[in-house]
Amino acid sequence: MRYDDNPPPPESGSSVTPDRHWFTRRSTLAVAAAALAPTCLAGWVLTQVLTGNGQDDHRPQASPPASHTPAADAKPSTAAEPTPARPTPNGSTSGAPTADKAPLTGRTVVIDPGHNTGNFKHTKEIDRQVDIGTHHKECDTTGTTTNSGYMEAEFTMDVSRRLRTALESKGLKVLLTHEAGTERPWGPCIDERARIGNEATADAVVSVHADGVSEGSRGYHVILPAKVKGGGADTAKIIEPSRLLGERIATNFARTTGSGPANYLGSGTGLVVRDDLGGLNLSTRPKVFIECGNMRDAKDAAQLTSPQWRQKAAQGIADGIVGFLGG
Ligand code: ZN
Repeated sequence: MRYDDNPPPPESGSSVTPDRHWFTRRSTLAVAAAALAPTCLAGWVLTQVLTGNGQDDHRPQASPPASHTPAADAKPSTAAEPTPARPTPNGSTSGAPTADKAPLTGRTVVIDPGHNTGNFKHTKEIDRQVDIGTHHKECDTTGTTTNSGYMEAEFTMDVSRRLRTALESKGLKVLLTHEAGTERPWGPCIDERARIGNEATADAVVSVHADGVSEGSRGYHVILPAKVKGGGADTAKIIEPSRLLGERIATNFARTTGSGPANYLGSGTGLVVRDDLGGLNLSTRPKVFIECGNMRDAKDAAQLTSPQWRQKAAQGIADGIVGFLGG
């Protein structure tokens, strides 16, 4: 749920957990938010305590009901939605080549839809610890939901599919780390998500997420890899290209969606550096995460649940990737 800044500024009285640290650092905002939504904030804090881990983690405060079915607007690419059908197979272009498409031909982008709608039914499997180089961490997490039950994992898959369509129209080869459906009832684990991008020798990798914090916390942020080295993790070579990728995505995402940078972390830049995410630590390819908005904020949730807004989000991410690749 919580993505903490890194490196956080040293503070006193914040030694319990990174999440606690975050809470303390933003105590003014948190207190204000608590006054408005005490139940939500309390639930968040409790969630952090219970999970002992808020990183790469958007556990919903309550499991989706067993009868949960995706909301109508959660269904990916249908004729009723504004997303164009996937126009061509991977690697081909739908129109005549233009000069600005040439640099993209043959390039590969891996898109990682955060979480999996089946994860909450497979808690034992996703709780398994995996090696992320610097330390061990849960294989995967369930993700968060809006207050009305729209799952982050539905959101990430829908945006990822729209993003794939947009990138393929530019001639890029696009791989998703997993697809909605039955072949992958949970996961992949975060180490496998990273490995997929590495083995594809992707030119860019983007992990799509939405945050789950208190009401009033709004906006997007892009998470960049910190410099880490340990075990199978060594990000030295991806630091700079990943920052360029992230900056491009942030700029274009803001332009297409009209959203502002997160008002609760990142100091208004929309950029945050993290050293605790397996998906970044284990990547050998330029990679970022994007938190498209806060599912627990009513205004952000209204956007996140809108197919039209998700299309804008996907287009902004696509434009950022294309710009990064020189297209
Ligand atoms: Zn997430």
